[in-house]
Amino acid sequence: QGIVIAIDGPSGSGKSSTAKGVARARDLRYLDTGAMYRALTWWMLDHGVDVEDAAAVAALVEQPVIEMGTDPSAPTVTVDGRDVAAEIRGKDVTGSVSAVSAVPEARALLVRTQREVIEAARRESAGIVVEGRDITTVVAPEAPVKLFLTASPEARAMRRSKEVRTSDVAATQADLARRDKLDSSRAHSPLTQTADATELDTTGLSLDEVIGLVVKLADE
Ligand code: C5P
Repeated sequence: QGIVIAIDGPSGSGKSSTAKGVARARDLRYLDTGAMYRALTWWMLDHGVDVEDAAAVAALVEQPVIEMGTDPSAPTVTVDGRDVAAEIRGKDVTGSVSAVSAVPEARALLVRTQREVIEAARRESAGIVVEGRDITTVVAPEAPVKLFLTASPEARAMRRSKEVRTSDVAATQADLARRDKLDSSRAHSPLTQTADATELDTTGLSLDEVIGLVVKLADE
């Protein structure tokens, strides 16, 4: 049975780059659970669903077929067979994803799918690195390696701005603060740091340093 490395943290903490890097270094699969919430959100918007209407979202969560490719060098996400990798990083999805993520039916469905992906990877490969907000607490609390990544608000805003290619770091920082608040205060599976996950503050560290630290933890 393959290993599971669970990584949680807010956006801009370095989660995605770290998770992909660790997976490549150890020849593991990679799952970006945020991309799944984004894909579901994209489908809702594409179908004209009011994402603030939790009942409407709940009634439709089973409709889209969301498929994740778990190669860390070329992860993919499709909805009903369509590649939505670019669309899910857009402003519309980013602005609506916290609302969809707060719907319990959406979480139940995606958590179930995530566990299936994890089990398949454990059977068929050396294991998987899974990143998100509730991986260490809900999706895979039994994972042998659990990490909570943090970084200063400024460092997170700088990274995120580079990712989305904007020079407006202040606006990015404000949007991160908005999503932090929504993600940490929701009733179901909020982003929470638990004592049994190792905290790693990535503020002053290079990506390679962070990857090295995580790989070392996994090798212990
Ligand atoms: O990581 P990323 O910024 O792409 O995540 C997008 C959103 O998806 C988060 O702001 C959060 O609302 C939601 N999310 C979640 N649980 C996860 C992963 C992401 O609620 N495991």
